[in-house]
Amino acid sequence: MELTGSADGTTWTGRETVAFTNTSTEPLAEIYLRLWGNAHDCKAVVISIGAVAEDCTVAKVPLASPVKAGEGTSVSFDVTMTAPDGLERFGRSGPYSFFGNALPVLAIRDHGGWHLEPDVGIGESFYTVAADFRVRLTHTGNVVVPSTGVTVDGVTIAKQVRDFAWAAGPFTTSEATSPGGTKVRTWATSTVAPAAVADARSKAMAAVDDFGRRFGAYPYGELDLVLNDRWTRFSGMEYPGLVLLISPGAPVVHEVAHQWWYGIVGNNEYADPWLDEAFATYATDVHEGNRRIGCWPGTLPVAISSPMSYWRAHQSSYGVYVYTHGSCMLHELERRLGAEAMARLLATYAKAHWYGVVTPTDFKTAAQAASPTDLTSFWTAHGVG
Ligand SMILES: [Zn+2]
Repeated sequence: MELTGSADGTTWTGRETVAFTNTSTEPLAEIYLRLWGNAHDCKAVVISIGAVAEDCTVAKVPLASPVKAGEGTSVSFDVTMTAPDGLERFGRSGPYSFFGNALPVLAIRDHGGWHLEPDVGIGESFYTVAADFRVRLTHTGNVVVPSTGVTVDGVTIAKQVRDFAWAAGPFTTSEATSPGGTKVRTWATSTVAPAAVADARSKAMAAVDDFGRRFGAYPYGELDLVLNDRWTRFSGMEYPGLVLLISPGAPVVHEVAHQWWYGIVGNNEYADPWLDEAFATYATDVHEGNRRIGCWPGTLPVAISSPMSYWRAHQSSYGVYVYTHGSCMLHELERRLGAEAMARLLATYAKAHWYGVVTPTDFKTAAQAASPTDLTSFWTAHGVG
């Protein structure tokens, strides 16, 4: 990507090239791009190719000629992204602009066909594979630009990430390196208290090292914490190498845990939100030494493994089922397997699916391999379909 920002950082325009390989066994005649940034405002992301569908988050792009199985091609297009007025992940807050899920990304076609699911207004509907990004973010004016990846001489490189997020504004910055060697940088809006920045930074450094020991070393070198005290629609949001955090009071450890559960070990967040949210919540508990004894509420009327299409219609249940009961299910699994076996299971599972995409079957199979007894009744009793 070659993108140039307006002087105030609210609009970025330029050229995006996406190179990919057809890993299926059939020719590929078209691709789809996801324009998630258009979920609230159809004009926020404008691209020069493809036909944008009615809900504005999908663009169908016919390929000049079908790509044979095993072969690759690339598509290039102009893109303009304007942060909408609003306290969203992709939005503006005073002189600060945030570009979460703004960049067009490839839609996924897997054994279930093309995934063109909608934004449902809560949680995440996203589904991407890990890819290498090379981005030049050219900006003038009085803004600094935190982003996914590591920037050297104006070129930002991010290898094996699922998305690329950035922000622009007159942020106050700081940086420190964790004992484990990850550079943690903070980017705070002007009204965030310095003590809140320091608190978030120390929590993130402890978490990135701890999760690195538990699940495999953090591979991205740098982690950016983008702090704002004005957001009302969300309290934290994970992107590869960059998290958005309300300050004070952000779920810092939870968002850092997502670097592994969503980022390194990916999943279809629309179909299986528990595969990242329950795991990030459980990882936070483990980091904080909270074992949630007695947390399981008993028979549930709905599975914690339900998709976003269900939670869209039952929004008030989403957090308690997917995060709270989902994490408790993992605590109960830990009590069933033993703490050491559970720790080994998560480390092995992360390693086996590093930079990949997991399904519920992948986790259940890995857990079964770590268990001396059959887990079928455990899944049924704990809301995992
Ligand atoms: Zn989360």
